[in-house]
Formats: sequence, structure tokens, C-alpha cells
Amino acid sequence: MILNLAVFLCTLTAMEGIGYLAHRYIMHGWGWFLHRSHHEPHLGALETNDVYLLALALIAFALVAIGRAGHAPLQWVGAGVAAFGVIYVIVHDGIVHRHWPFKPRPRNRYLKRLYKAHLLHHALKGRDNSVSFGFLYAPPMRRLKRQLRERRRQS
Ligand SMILES: [Zn+2]
Ligand SMILES: [Zn+2]
Repeated sequence: MILNLAVFLCTLTAMEGIGYLAHRYIMHGWGWFLHRSHHEPHLGALETNDVYLLALALIAFALVAIGRAGHAPLQWVGAGVAAFGVIYVIVHDGIVHRHWPFKPRPRNRYLKRLYKAHLLHHALKGRDNSVSFGFLYAPPMRRLKRQLRERRRQS
């Protein structure tokens, strides 16, 4: 049980790193054609960017299925991936972008910090020059703002 929990928590933590890299180098790289919808004025409840969420769900589902078919503890890796997806949807879609009919507010310091950091991610238009690619960890505001000033000068 302890081992399973450790696998789950390690996966959840690792997913933040993987998510950061995927956002920075795939979604703002060759995958921009899908992510672009997320950086434009919002039209409906769904956007092509949600394809990434669908891919994440499929990966989590596959890992759980393989784990349960006898390759333990892969199902706990899958659970960690799924948990990252759920937290991401709640924090990013719900609290930061308010895509839902009810609009939860960032109440504690951690959520406020994520909220501000992600608004900085959307501060510059287009695929290049963005800052703050993480989802569940935000570097200090000072650092993000300095990066943003530098990128503004470059663009
Ligand atoms: Zn982005
Ligand atoms: Zn966003």
C-alpha cells in the first residue's frame, strides 16, 4: 500500500515536470495548431486544445488497464496521471479561466499564486515569448515578471 502511494505521488510530481516540458516544447512547438485555440478569445465550452486532455485521459486509462492486467504497479502510475489531469482541469479550466457555469475563486495563497502565474502565461499573444509553462507549481512572481519584461523587449 505504501509503495502504491509512493508510486502515485511520484507520478503526480513527475507529471508537473512532464507537463511543463510538453507545454513549452510541444504545445508551443509543433503542437501549436491544437494549443493555439487556448491563446485566442474563448468561444465555447470546448476548444481544440482539449485534445491534449483527451490524450492524457487515454494514457492514464491505458496505464491503469495494463497495470490491472498483471503489470502492477502501473495502475498507480495511471492513477497519478489521471489525478494530474483532474487537478489541472479544476485549477486551470475552473479557477483560472473560469470556463464553467459556476466560477470558483482562488481562495488560498497557493491558488492565488497559480492564478497570477498563469495569467502571465497568457500576457503575451502568440506562441513565442510566453513565460510560466508550469501548471501546478509557479515560480516566484518576481522571476516571472522579469522574464516577461525581457520577452516583451525581444518581441
Ligand atoms: Zn500555452
Ligand atoms: Zn491557460
